[in-house]
Amino acid sequence: ATPTSIMVGIGRAAEAGVLFRKGDALQSLQTVAVVAFDKTGTLTRGRPQMTTFAVAPEFDEAAVLAAVASVESRSEHPIAAAIVAAAEARDLSIPEVSAFNSVTGMGATAQVGDDDVIVGAGRFMAASAIALGQLEAKGAEIAAKGITPVYAAINGKIAAVIGVSDPVKPSSAATVAGLHAQGIKVAMITGDHHATAEAIASSLGIDHVVADVLPDGKVAAIEGLRAQYGPVAFVGDGINDAPALATADVGIAVGSGTDVAIEAADVVLSGHDLETVQKAFVISRKTMRNIR
Ligand code: ADP
Ligand code: MG
Repeated sequence: ATPTSIMVGIGRAAEAGVLFRKGDALQSLQTVAVVAFDKTGTLTRGRPQMTTFAVAPEFDEAAVLAAVASVESRSEHPIAAAIVAAAEARDLSIPEVSAFNSVTGMGATAQVGDDDVIVGAGRFMAASAIALGQLEAKGAEIAAKGITPVYAAINGKIAAVIGVSDPVKPSSAATVAGLHAQGIKVAMITGDHHATAEAIASSLGIDHVVADVLPDGKVAAIEGLRAQYGPVAFVGDGINDAPALATADVGIAVGSGTDVAIEAADVVLSGHDLETVQKAFVISRKTMRNIR
């Protein structure tokens, strides 16, 4: 590998919106067997919307939504923003909460007036010993459509299932196809429900799904993919993605991501568009071919 051709490749990549922070990443990309994408905010737009709100029979819909939105008004999760926006769109008054507690990768809890409110993933309800009852089937129905089911419990009883939809980016399907055309496998890593993740993955033609991953489980997921396929490139955007970006053979941060993610990455893509992932591989291949 001559330093000059590497320099030319890095320059060409920069013009295409692909910033190589480390020169050897241009070479390492050629060894990659599988590209693993973070789902939320990377394959999807990351600006979810509430599409379903179904309450258990003994609960009042507006009252439950107001209570849930109160808890979520204190959370920074994109799902929380979707629920708060939906409550605001219905002109519900959102009371102050006390004893707010956020559990990463699970959900949040708080006291709203006299009520104990828990909001989050099905596994958070299970961990809180709350049975989903008849809302479990509704949640499965939501997940099968590629929509995330979130549950709410009030005073220890299941109260609602909430569907939160986060559409895929327009460039995601073409990016997966482009990687396949280069003989590279594609995986998805997410903290989301497995059925939601599977539905989205199958719509994009993704080969391998690792779902229900807690934030600190992304590193183990990368190691698992490496053991199965070989060298891994990981594409992510969030603070939670930094350890996975560092663990991957090539860490690729989408440029709209957080500074922490960018610091941990070997390659940074400008903008939201995932087509640049393919471009990185193509430029890498051309550069290395010229060298030989
Ligand atoms: P990812 O970014 O991979 O989608 P996260 O670790 O951020 O995953 O979240 C995993 C899951 O935890 C979400 O899909 C959701 O079910 C649940 N969750 C986390 N925080 C909240 C919250 N504030 N409100 C509702 N659900 C939440
Ligand atoms: Mg993300």
